[in-house]
Amino acid sequence: MSIPICAICAKTGVLCNACESKLAKGQITAMDVEVAKIFYESEMEGTGFERALDTGEYIIILAKKENIGKIIGKGGDNIRMISKKLGKKVRAIGTESLQDTIRDFVAPAQISSVNKVYRPDGTKVTRIRINKGDKKRLRMDIKEIERLVSSLTTDKIEISFDE
Ligand SMILES: [Zn+2]
Repeated sequence: MSIPICAICAKTGVLCNACESKLAKGQITAMDVEVAKIFYESEMEGTGFERALDTGEYIIILAKKENIGKIIGKGGDNIRMISKKLGKKVRAIGTESLQDTIRDFVAPAQISSVNKVYRPDGTKVTRIRINKGDKKRLRMDIKEIERLVSSLTTDKIEISFDE
C-alpha cells in the first residue's frame, strides 16, 4: 500500500523531516497529510491512495482502482466517515489510466467519445465528449473537471458535450 506520507507520520500525526520537506516543496499537500491521518485513525491503514485534492466543494481522493472500493466502503460507510471528518463532500477517483480518471470524474454522466487529435502546432489533445443528456448528472462543471484532470497529467484535455 502507499500513501503520500510515511506510515509513522500518518500514525503520530507529526511529520518527520522527510515528509516535512516534501510538504515544503509542494510535492504533497496539507490535504494529503490530513487524509493519510484519517486513514490511519480509521483502521484503513491497509488502503493506499495517491493524492488528495481540495477543489473547494469536494475533496478528491485519487487512488488505484483496487483501492477505490475500500475507500468507499460498505454501502459508502468509509467515504461518509471521511467526508464527516473533513467537513466536505468526498469523491474517490481511480488513476489507472487517464480515461479511467476522466470517467470517474464525470460519473454518473457517460463519456460518449474520446479522440486524440493534434493541434496545428503539434500538441496532442485528448478530446472527451459527454452525452448532452447527461449534463444534469455531472457533479462538477466540465471546466473544473478539465482543470483538475490537467493538473494530474501532462496531457492536454478538452471536455465538451455532444452536439
Ligand atoms: Zn514521514
